Amino acid sequence: MGTKSSVTLGLDIGGTKLKGIALKGRTQILKEISIPSRANEGPNEVRSAIKDAIKLFQEAEIPFSSIGIGCAGSVDHHRGVVRNSPNFADWKNIPLKDWVELDFNVPVSVENDAKCAVFAEWKVGAGEGHKNVVLLTLGTGIGGGLILDGRLFRGATGTAGELGHFSIHTEGLPCPCGNRGCFERYCSATAVKNQANGISPKDVFSKAGIVPEYKKIIDEFIYNFQIALVGIANVFDPEIILLGGAVTDGLSIYLEEISHHVKTHAFPAVGEKVTIKTTQFKNLSGSLGAAHLALELLQ
Ligand SMILES: [Zn+2]
Repeated sequence: MGTKSSVTLGLDIGGTKLKGIALKGRTQILKEISIPSRANEGPNEVRSAIKDAIKLFQEAEIPFSSIGIGCAGSVDHHRGVVRNSPNFADWKNIPLKDWVELDFNVPVSVENDAKCAVFAEWKVGAGEGHKNVVLLTLGTGIGGGLILDGRLFRGATGTAGELGHFSIHTEGLPCPCGNRGCFERYCSATAVKNQANGISPKDVFSKAGIVPEYKKIIDEFIYNFQIALVGIANVFDPEIILLGGAVTDGLSIYLEEISHHVKTHAFPAVGEKVTIKTTQFKNLSGSLGAAHLALELLQ
């Protein structure tokens, strides 16, 4: 490794932002960038945003030898194709790997964004040393990543771990995925914002003590969150469940209450073992994991 450069770029393409880092070694972040992802303007605009992001590293004269990309949606990591992504306009079988390799002439890997996040937290963050790690990103939607028996779990099509679409109310709210009552309809940043007439989740959480309407929204959030977490704990039997994404800061004061509920409602052995905590790298987990996966997949 590293005849030309030991620096890898990690890009995390979300519904609104494109975040990037230049990673040296396992943990040294040389530079961090964040620009609009333009995901609602179609694939070509996202391609331009990716070029703009990578150019920022070139302008800073950071030589890199590979690029890892994390993107929301169902990803075929063998081909580096994003099959579809609910929060991205007109995305169908987008060949991200080919595009970026053509534009920059270095090897590129592509993986789902939450899989990248769990990979980073497992390799060098809050999940380090564990064999079974579940990560949930509570943002525009809810993403999920799974480390099971000491490896990243992808499933038959690479879509495993879409925990936001774990249905918690069979007759519940309809979801764009086609199912009803999906977890992300109740516990994503979008769900909180919709219930609070557009008020940000941060404000809803911080003012729940003084605004009764917000208290009710948070109470229901916690109720639904606990239902999902008990199910997830029982299905995967993880040592640790990590929470990341925009809602996590507000949620942290309820973490003890949520942990207690999961520990007392999951299978006894599962409840006794599992720990629930926030991610170490917060909004950098995705880009850091994209870089780590590039190192693993391309070297
Ligand atoms: Zn769904």
